[in-house]
Amino acid sequence: MKDKKVIIIGCGIGGLAAAMKLSSRGVNVEIFEKQAYPGGKIRATNSPAGLIDSGPTVLTMYEVLRELFEYCNEQIDDHLELVPEKTIARHWWRDGSSLDLFSSFEKNMDTIKSFSGTNSAKEFEKFNSASETLFTLFKKPIICSPKPKVLPLLINGITNARVLYEALLKERILYDLLDKNFSDSRLSQLFSRYATYVGGSPFMSPSILSLIWNVESEGVWRIKGGMHQIPKCMESIAKRGGAVFNYGNSVDEILIRNNKVCGIKLENGEEIFSEVVLFNGDPMALALGLLGNQVKHAVSKKRIEPRSLSAYVWSFSAKPVGLELVHHNVFFNSNYKKEFEDISKNLMPTDPTLYVCSQGNNKDPTPRSNNLGRFEIIINAAPISTPTSPNKDEEFLRCKNITFPLLESMGLNLQLNPNPKMLTTPWEFSKLFPGSSGSLYGRSPHGITSTFKRPLCQSRIKGLLMAGGGIHPGAGIPMACQSGKHAAEMILSDLDLT
Ligand SMILES: Cc1cc2nc3c(=O)[nH]c(=O)nc-3n(C[C@H](O)[C@H](O)[C@H](O)COP(=O)(O)OP(=O)(O)OC[C@H]3O[C@@H](n4cnc5c(N)ncnc54)[C@H](O)[C@@H]3O)c2cc1C
Repeated sequence: MKDKKVIIIGCGIGGLAAAMKLSSRGVNVEIFEKQAYPGGKIRATNSPAGLIDSGPTVLTMYEVLRELFEYCNEQIDDHLELVPEKTIARHWWRDGSSLDLFSSFEKNMDTIKSFSGTNSAKEFEKFNSASETLFTLFKKPIICSPKPKVLPLLINGITNARVLYEALLKERILYDLLDKNFSDSRLSQLFSRYATYVGGSPFMSPSILSLIWNVESEGVWRIKGGMHQIPKCMESIAKRGGAVFNYGNSVDEILIRNNKVCGIKLENGEEIFSEVVLFNGDPMALALGLLGNQVKHAVSKKRIEPRSLSAYVWSFSAKPVGLELVHHNVFFNSNYKKEFEDISKNLMPTDPTLYVCSQGNNKDPTPRSNNLGRFEIIINAAPISTPTSPNKDEEFLRCKNITFPLLESMGLNLQLNPNPKMLTTPWEFSKLFPGSSGSLYGRSPHGITSTFKRPLCQSRIKGLLMAGGGIHPGAGIPMACQSGKHAAEMILSDLDLT
């Protein structure tokens, strides 16, 4: 059985997690990735100050990665230097106020008290506790399970009926729940922003997403050398287990015989045969027929639409002056609702929230004023809605004229002469991740039942499995990694190798 070959299409974190698990059990794994590097959305771009993380920057739930390494008889600390962030994030508002959050409840109580008074601290205490309860309730039956299990959720929920009732039924929309909870609207804005971590609008996402705060408060880690070290080291462990990686190889077709998978066809026409194929691209690509008409029905459209948010992402080096930044900085607007109204009309928000990741330089991860540092700025955007490419120069100019004057007005001068290469647009994301429409987190999290609607790793076609941010349990490094583990477990169980 160990001679059976498993083909993995795509080398994102989901594909890599599966490759590590399968190869550690002696399965013959071959990976085909259209880009020249591992990691997919965990990508880096060049700059005079060194490689900049241009994808994810916030690593949470690090135990998901640690357990994966342990499964492969490796210790994550032998491969990656994980540094816990002292300050989770620094938040700035237009009125000049700012608030730091930490992974310590007591510290957060103190800073919120100084920021907004005793009443706000009490409101935070209530929210923090509800967020923790929700995460505990959802973790085992939903997040860690290959298939969401509603019954255990409800049984365990009996003892926390009030929290579940408030988050599932009473206030269905995240922003509304937080607006009721906090008398200071800056705090409703801050804690509802977590909906964007999974590609949702705070004004349309279900209240259940308030559990993301608990994930964040449990700890945020930085990787020495950058997030792009994660896929590199996962690749090397899978290679040690015998996995073969083929870069610059786009898969054009998944081959089917007698309603079962029998292999793949590469862009150059070469065919490679296998009874098990794991697809780590966006599941929408299957439904659109980008992997051939025979696998169009592999996943139901209801499970992949509507689409989550896209983004405009700046990556550049610059010498900042003005504010003292930490690694994760958020610059809020004064009309939060308007930002998401613009997005729902497919417009670039005129006054967006700006997430600024300050990555320092190779010598000094602590960014200092007037020293060359690396930056990533993320602006929420709508996925693309038209089949034709927008004019990049126009988009660049508009985005530049929004982003940098806004930061300057809030006290941060990046002293930079931006050029179009520094900006990745939703259209460019749609090209990087075929079938995605530029949407970066799979199916939209909007709607109370969205958690239960994502595709599971087994597709409708025998031998075709799926893993990644578009598959249950969802987007984000730990979740996509979890889906890769689930897919590998299913394959190992079919091969009788568990
Ligand atoms: C700007 C940005 C910021 C983010 N911030 C965070 C964050 O701070 N924290 C966090 O946890 N998450 C964050 N995320 C989300 C996180 O990066 C993703 O959820 C996760 O990395 C997705 O992994 P995946 O397994 O779905 O694979 P992907 O990263 O989507 O990779 C899929 C791979 O498949 C390849 N592929 C697709 N089709 C084919 C084909 N036909 N042939 C060959 N190869 C193919 C693609 O080239 C790609 O390399 C962010 C994402 C982005 C874009």
